[in-house]
Amino acid sequence: MCRICDIEFSKLQTWKHHQEHVHENPSPLMKKILIVGGGYAGVGVLNTIQKQFQDNVDVSIFIVSENNFFLHTSMLPELSTGTIEPRHIATPIRNFCKRARFYQAKVTHIDLDKKSVSINTESGNTKLEYDYLIIAAGTKTGFFGNENLKKYSVTIKSLQDASIIRNQIIKQLELADQQEISKQAQLLSFVIVGGGFSGVETTGEINEFIHESAEKYYRNIESDSIRVSLIVARDHILPEIGNLGRYAAKSLEKSGVNIIYNTKVTDADISQVFLSGDNSLHYSMLIWAGGNESQDFVQSLDVEHDKSGRLIVDKYLRLSKYPNVFALGDCAYILDSQNQPYPPTAQHAIREAKIVSKNLISSVHGSKKFTIFDYSSKGSMAKIGKRDGVAKMLGVNLTGFAAWFVWKQYYLSTLPVMEKRIRVGLDWFVDLFFPRDITKLN
Ligand SMILES: Cc1cc2nc3c(=O)[nH]c(=O)nc-3n(C[C@H](O)[C@H](O)[C@H](O)COP(=O)(O)OP(=O)(O)OC[C@H]3O[C@@H](n4cnc5c(N)ncnc54)[C@H](O)[C@@H]3O)c2cc1C
Repeated sequence: MCRICDIEFSKLQTWKHHQEHVHENPSPLMKKILIVGGGYAGVGVLNTIQKQFQDNVDVSIFIVSENNFFLHTSMLPELSTGTIEPRHIATPIRNFCKRARFYQAKVTHIDLDKKSVSINTESGNTKLEYDYLIIAAGTKTGFFGNENLKKYSVTIKSLQDASIIRNQIIKQLELADQQEISKQAQLLSFVIVGGGFSGVETTGEINEFIHESAEKYYRNIESDSIRVSLIVARDHILPEIGNLGRYAAKSLEKSGVNIIYNTKVTDADISQVFLSGDNSLHYSMLIWAGGNESQDFVQSLDVEHDKSGRLIVDKYLRLSKYPNVFALGDCAYILDSQNQPYPPTAQHAIREAKIVSKNLISSVHGSKKFTIFDYSSKGSMAKIGKRDGVAKMLGVNLTGFAAWFVWKQYYLSTLPVMEKRIRVGLDWFVDLFFPRDITKLN
């Protein structure tokens, strides 16, 4: 272990070389690889290149991430109803850093010409230099520039968001239980905006949680007073999984969700959302999953972007003007062989990480042999309730319990460490036999 660099080596000999080449007599051949982002894409690259460069002391690896943990975002909707405990889907990034140095910091600026990245931590600002840069910063929630939507809605992107949603739902149930039936609907009107994975999966989860909790614990609440609405801009939901979206919509509607199609949310105030076509809808809680955009430092780079600010990369996942800079995951815009953009999903981020790692290793070794990113999705799935889901796997469509089961197996296997798999598996096991917990934590 080098205490100065905070990295480990598997052989004593490599550690000695490291001391010599890095600290005593720095090698002019030293290459610095800097990864920005500790999500599916960033950690995917980190894990592969660490193995490759384990014993190569001429390569230093750094990873910067705003949070000190990798978050399994696909399970956030389950967190918003307390099915899973927050720490069970978060893994410290330091767990993965065998050969890399980790900085918990916010990237504020990248100077592509000077090859430096400005980072901001609680103790101040500093700059990190690189020879190779991997941008894997995901996206942030986008509100199309509307400050009211930002002010009045809750988003579903982080651990804090999921916890806010859960506590707010319980608060509304507590308030409604104390009211006479005619006043309960005002307090139990939940509106979710967005027909993609996050909007649909969150709708399925919270709809079930609200009804189940009302029936079990809030006996003064009349179930007809509960209204869960999902507003979507298109005439269907879950475009990522083709016609299975129709099954998902039917299933949500059967469980009482009111899906409002072909509708855009134009504005909001403290109790209403304003919709295209001069309509409005009252809400007691508004969840916004209506769009994503790139992080500010990504948008401000002087390179090509798509309309949501994602970085346009070439077929090797590099910035065309800067071949030593790779971008992948949700923050990158990548076209497939039909000139259609690959969807921003965890599955694609993981696959892109494999190709970026390969191409990065080639670059570091001075080789011109690069691999094209060409991937056909093996399938896609969504969980839309406690025992329901849709899945398309290797051309086979699954719905209902079978899809729900496949979803659980797949996402359990994508948790990065065994400890977290066991913890989430136990959470799910408990959930099979007991109602969800309605302890309101703040
Ligand atoms: C609620 C929800 C449900 C989803 N469900 C599914 C699903 O069922 N299936 C599916 O395939 N996909 C799903 N997705 C999409 C999936 O989560 C993303 O496609 C995936 O996370 C993209 O991986 P990424 O590494 O590009 O970005 P992320 O996982 O978002 O990681 C980005 C990383 O960058 C870091 N970062 C960001 N800004 C900065 C900065 N300024 N400085 C330093 N670090 C920074 C973050 O801390 C984070 O570590 C869901 C997403 C959400 C929000």
